[in-house]
Amino acid sequence: MKKHLKTIFAFAMAATMMFAAVGCGSPSEPASDEQNVQSTEGESEGEDGTEAEAPTESGDTLVMATNAEFPPYEFYEGGDVVGIDVEIARAVAESMGKELHVEDMAFDSIIPALLSGKADIGAAGMTVTEDRKASVDFTDTYVKASQVIIVKADNTEITGADSVEGKVIGVQLGTTGDLYASDVTDTVERYNKGFEAVQALSQGKIDAVIIDDQVAKALAADNADVKVLDEPFTEEEYAIAVKKDNTELVEQINAALTELKESGKLQEIVDKYITAE
Ligand code: GLN
Repeated sequence: MKKHLKTIFAFAMAATMMFAAVGCGSPSEPASDEQNVQSTEGESEGEDGTEAEAPTESGDTLVMATNAEFPPYEFYEGGDVVGIDVEIARAVAESMGKELHVEDMAFDSIIPALLSGKADIGAAGMTVTEDRKASVDFTDTYVKASQVIIVKADNTEITGADSVEGKVIGVQLGTTGDLYASDVTDTVERYNKGFEAVQALSQGKIDAVIIDDQVAKALAADNADVKVLDEPFTEEEYAIAVKKDNTELVEQINAALTELKESGKLQEIVDKYITAE
């Protein structure tokens, strides 16, 4: 019934993004990567206790920048970063004869890490946007996603995209959710982790959270105080980001992604982390 409205909303958002993107794509806050940086060796290599060396762009390592606060795409399991993106990136690295090295950092530090050469690829449930395309190149897309709203379980007032206007909305800093929220309200609370936004919601500090659909489900699953509104209100696609004009790397990744799609391996990875409804 609301399909038409949703479409209009999505278009409006897309149009607004073109204008709002500049501010959001280059946050004025100082880069916050240093305090959040952690590294982890690939789980398939086993725990041998060796300290990870500083990532290099040497021939045998593919360095992946991510923000491991985004289940089921990237999150910590014990000391390892695991998830859909990590497994896809590891398979891509393998197909290139390289070993994957994961660097965990703030989401808004991922593109700067690519630009400075600190990382080779950004794999972080990252939505392809026109604004980001101005600073990085994207591979083929590998997953579709959408923004959804999380509210308190007993909230009957906010029922969808058309009723969050002017509310206090929590988002993860620098994400598309941040962008959309900024368009519908002046009161956006920005957190480094989606988890912190959901926590603030359950403590009654904010009215709603806007975040990616599968992540919303994962974060809400552990919290009986909140519920996810089913209505998706954007259409987004995730891809791997690389430094601009690194055509060879994009082609290698695309070839690996195609192979993963055709062999059914990609679906297998997704199914391992997301159970169909
Ligand atoms: N898909 C969203 C974006 O690209 C959120 C990504 C994230 O928080 N890891 O902005």
